[in-house]
Amino acid sequence: MKDLNIVCLIKQVPVPKAMKTKEDGMMDRSGKSMMNPYCQNALEEALKLRDQVGGKVTVVSMGPPNAQQSLMEALRRGADEAILLSDRLLAGSDTWATAYALSTTLKKYCMPIDVLFAGLQTIDGDTAHVGPQVAEHLNMYQVCYVDKIIPKENTLLVRRLIEGGYATYEVPLPVMLSITKEANVPRGPSLKYSLETLKKEIKIVSVKDIGLTREEVGLAGSPTIVSRVLNVVIDRPPVKIFEEGTMEKRVKQLLVAVNQHEEEAQ
Ligand SMILES: Cc1cc2nc3c(=O)[nH]c(=O)nc-3n(C[C@H](O)[C@H](O)[C@H](O)COP(=O)(O)OP(=O)(O)OC[C@H]3O[C@@H](n4cnc5c(N)ncnc54)[C@H](O)[C@@H]3O)c2cc1C
Repeated sequence: MKDLNIVCLIKQVPVPKAMKTKEDGMMDRSGKSMMNPYCQNALEEALKLRDQVGGKVTVVSMGPPNAQQSLMEALRRGADEAILLSDRLLAGSDTWATAYALSTTLKKYCMPIDVLFAGLQTIDGDTAHVGPQVAEHLNMYQVCYVDKIIPKENTLLVRRLIEGGYATYEVPLPVMLSITKEANVPRGPSLKYSLETLKKEIKIVSVKDIGLTREEVGLAGSPTIVSRVLNVVIDRPPVKIFEEGTMEKRVKQLLVAVNQHEEEAQ
């Protein structure tokens, strides 16, 4: 197989404990954040494929300036280049506008792409839309829920999780693969790549740079209308499952827990 031009989409997300919404219902992104866990699995597959076949991995993100943190982390893990699309005009983008802006960025700076990696989903938006939407804009084949990739002569053999089992496909390039958590254990940063990262710069681009207008991005470019956002408050105690020990022991544990709960309620 020839050297591959690999791109991996990376989203920076709030750490789960710091995840909260603002009064207007939008995600509050001012707290501590991290590389989305599924993007870490996607990056790991991208790096493994590059190391096996040859080529380069470019990581691309759309987000506020602090998303550079996740891109730097990706470079320290072994990505070759990084691009951040960052602009106030992008605020309020739904998945349609996000995928449109990302695919326009890829068309301008990354073509021709052989393999595009995305996480299966994010832990803040959770839609699993963006990878497939970007693939559609770029007219690529796509396989989602992928947990295994084997390069062949000019194709990839990929395994995807399906209900109750697996399905294996042989796919031609270019292809978008969205990666599950089951695929791998992501590597951490290495000393070699951390030193190389000191000499690298993240390319930061704006909406104007990619040739889009304010009407095509952000709230203006988002067909989704969020009419109301509710914070769900759960007022019952958490579910507790007793699954260890004999049935007798588990029933006793259950009775103790019920008594304790009743005492607390009085
Ligand atoms: C009406 C509306 C308004 C919104 N307003 C805002 C807002 O003001 N601010 C805000 O931050 N969010 C906003 N969002 C959420 C925003 O649309 C999503 O965060 C974004 O589209 C990504 O969707 P997701 O998180 O579900 O990603 P998924 O589709 O679940 O992500 C799958 C994979 O796609 C890739 N990917 C996803 N997003 C990105 C990205 N940004 N950069 C690079 N790769 C990516 C990653 O590889 C990821 O693992 C809004 C959503 C709606 C519906």
